[in-house]
Amino acid sequence: MKINIAIDGPSAAGKSSISDMLAESLGYTHLDTGAMYRAVALSALRNGIAYDDEEKIVAMIEAMKLEMLPDGRVILEGEDVSEKIRTDEISMGASDVSKLQGCREALVRMQQHICKDGGYILDGRDIGTVVLKDAPVKIYMVASPEARAQRRLLQNQSQGLLADYEQILEDIKKRDYQDMHREHSPLTKAEDAIEIDTSDMTKEEVRDAVLAIVKEKTGD
Ligand code: C5P
Repeated sequence: MKINIAIDGPSAAGKSSISDMLAESLGYTHLDTGAMYRAVALSALRNGIAYDDEEKIVAMIEAMKLEMLPDGRVILEGEDVSEKIRTDEISMGASDVSKLQGCREALVRMQQHICKDGGYILDGRDIGTVVLKDAPVKIYMVASPEARAQRRLLQNQSQGLLADYEQILEDIKKRDYQDMHREHSPLTKAEDAIEIDTSDMTKEEVRDAVLAIVKEKTGD
């Protein structure tokens, strides 16, 4: 039987790439929930809606056509915005809109609907604590801010984006603080989550550690 797997942790801890690798190994689908908050931020920006205008943002989400394709592409109003949601401006915007309770409720409902039949790996900030409270496997992935900034730097350089280590480190710390201290569903480790510090691990080592946990929990 296919279960759902919850992966939480701060930005750039490796959640997304590990989720992709796990999805491939297990034949599951990866749902990047952060991309959904990013799509909301992009849509708000395009519609001239302030990131803290809860009423307008919630109405916008209700009318918004957002498709999360199984291959990871994000389609907003029929347009592939997978790349456009990865800028630093949208990263911070996503963190801003994610503070709004109404925005969270709408996206959590969509996420729960998408993975209702199992076979999904969801990565985000509130998966183990809110979205999939009963998930049999919950991972809390962490890494030092410096290790995460270094990874983001390499990623940005390969994509021709911001490549200033100090600035990236500062942005990471600011977003961590905001995500961990917000009123609704702050980033925190679920009681029954298993913590993995990926600072000094290769992606393959992290994948194998999670696969071992999945095997132990499900017998697969
Ligand atoms: O994971 P990613 O860095 O793409 O997420 C962007 C932002 O969306 C995070 O900084 C966080 O504020 C928000 N988020 C959230 N809950 C999730 C996923 C992301 O609040 N499940």
